[in-house]
Amino acid sequence: MKIVLASRNKKKIEELRELLSELLSNVEVLSLDDVGIAGDIEEDGTTFEENALIKARVAAGSGYIGVADDSGLTVDALGGEPGVYSARYAAKCHFAGDHDDEGNNQCLLYNLRDVPDEERGGAYVCAVACVFPDGREFVVRGESRGTLLREYHGTGGFGYDPLFYFPQFGKTFAEVSAQEKHSVSHRGKAMRAFAKKMKEYL
Ligand code: IMP
Repeated sequence: MKIVLASRNKKKIEELRELLSELLSNVEVLSLDDVGIAGDIEEDGTTFEENALIKARVAAGSGYIGVADDSGLTVDALGGEPGVYSARYAAKCHFAGDHDDEGNNQCLLYNLRDVPDEERGGAYVCAVACVFPDGREFVVRGESRGTLLREYHGTGGFGYDPLFYFPQFGKTFAEVSAQEKHSVSHRGKAMRAFAKKMKEYL
């Protein structure tokens, strides 16, 4: 079975290839480059699900099964922000400098500066969409709830991980191994739900 992942991010493709081959047998994971689909995909959906579907439909244009994920952080006290803007949240804070993980984290800390400890809950969310060449589609979702700290803890992971405290571990996602993170993370949960659903569709 050939699956085309709608991503050009080599790290993400490798990570998803690893997760999928553990969960599904006989799966060959290709990238957009492998199937000759060029150009940027405009992610203009208002939800993670919509954006994942937009990308998966493009990948399915290859004639193979198209799969895409979209993820981010939603913070209760910020009405769900950064949400679908998670990767570019720094752009909303003029002082945040570079629009990278550090800028995003600084912007988040600033916007949460007056929020008391007991109201700093939030969730990572990951949607995974699958589009078959015959037009059938499904989307699954995984969530992982935690608390946003006031300073960084740990150096592992990426993105908001040094600020995302996971109570069951008593640590942030930047202080645990990749395996531990996958066992409870939004992406790990979504990929396991995806593999289960995929078996029903095949
Ligand atoms: P995308 O799914 O590659 O579009 O990721 C969106 C953004 O959400 C990333 O750039 C990160 O800022 C954030 N994000 C998604 N998943 C994680 C995670 O597991 N840890 C930290 N940040 C994440």
